[in-house]
Amino acid sequence: MDPQTNSFRDRLEQKLNDRKAHNLFRERQTLSARQGAKVKIDGRDVINFCSNDYLGLSNHPDIVAAFKAVADQFGVGSGSSSLVSGRYRLHQQLEEKLAEKTGREAALLFPSGYMANLAIATSLAGRGDAIFLDRLAHASMIDAARLSGAKLHRYQHADPESLALGLSKSTSKIKLVLTDAVFSMDGDKAPMRELAAICEQHQAVLVVDDAHGFGVLGEQGGGLLEETGLRSDQAPVLMATFGKALGTAGAFVAADKCIIESLVQFGRSYIYTTAAPPALAAATLAALEIVDKESWRRKELIARIKHFRLRAKEQDLKLLASETAIQPLIVGDSASAVQLSQALLKEGFLNTAIRPPTVPEGSARLRITLTAEHTNDQIDQLLETLGKLL
Ligand SMILES: *Cc1c(COP(=O)(O)O)cnc(C)c1O
Repeated sequence: MDPQTNSFRDRLEQKLNDRKAHNLFRERQTLSARQGAKVKIDGRDVINFCSNDYLGLSNHPDIVAAFKAVADQFGVGSGSSSLVSGRYRLHQQLEEKLAEKTGREAALLFPSGYMANLAIATSLAGRGDAIFLDRLAHASMIDAARLSGAKLHRYQHADPESLALGLSKSTSKIKLVLTDAVFSMDGDKAPMRELAAICEQHQAVLVVDDAHGFGVLGEQGGGLLEETGLRSDQAPVLMATFGKALGTAGAFVAADKCIIESLVQFGRSYIYTTAAPPALAAATLAALEIVDKESWRRKELIARIKHFRLRAKEQDLKLLASETAIQPLIVGDSASAVQLSQALLKEGFLNTAIRPPTVPEGSARLRITLTAEHTNDQIDQLLETLGKLL
């Protein structure tokens, strides 16, 4: 091997070893089967407490049937990018349905939420502009902001005053404010009305990533914007994903026609990637129909969250102030979080430890997520086990 190759390998080995030494090395769990909240790992049934399938729709028979029917008809792959020949009538129908559901002029599909966020930041802002991000914003928004070339400002978590201060100091003409609606690792909700008011005051464009609220929050499952009653002129750009509550995969952006057309024309993560399978669009349409028609899953989920919090409080478990399906238990150091997660697995519960850089240094945690498929019994078992282990 030539010396260059050696130093290349050496550096990678060094970085991997560092990660291990700091208890930050990621081991992937491989599932061999799944039924509701139960999954099979290494031949053992365990209860999954870290899935984002909040409504349990990913195995809903109508959604599976919609997927199968279109796969039988058109095959699996879309065959091309959306701008070349990968766009089907089903994609268009789904976009129209999403525009209608979110009360906006248009919507645009993406193969993933990560790519949707990349397109938003890079198409709507660039050099000379400014992007403001919550300190706990999802990694995809941070990467997107960096890639855009705009000046990046971080404001204190869920703190409208901190945002206002940053905006008032900025001399950039175009200012985008990117926030999670429900924060992915803490489960708290962004103060949407206050953020929107400050954006209006400073003529900044508010972009909301509702990956964890869409399908779950609001009477119709329209997400945190529906729940808080924000109009589309107050939050002009809405992004949400299908891989969580909707139980499929992919994402969309909903906005006015001018913004959506800008994403189509300039969003490199839209243009230079293969369109999602049309069968997936059919499955997502079926999922949206269920979200529209049936509210009992949302109610079940709310009941599970209440039960969990009540029982956790009885046990004096220290929870964050989250009312959503995301219920983190802060452990602190990464080694303890990993140990706790491994001990839980032995007892029959899957809950992968969340560590830096996903969360800030010193705040490693178990991010417990609840779904409509969990039973109160399963929650009690988890808490009982946690009580013993702690
Ligand atoms: C999951 C998530 C994403 C990424 O969505 P994918 O479709 O999984 O790529 C983006 N933003 C937030 C807040 C998320 O939780």
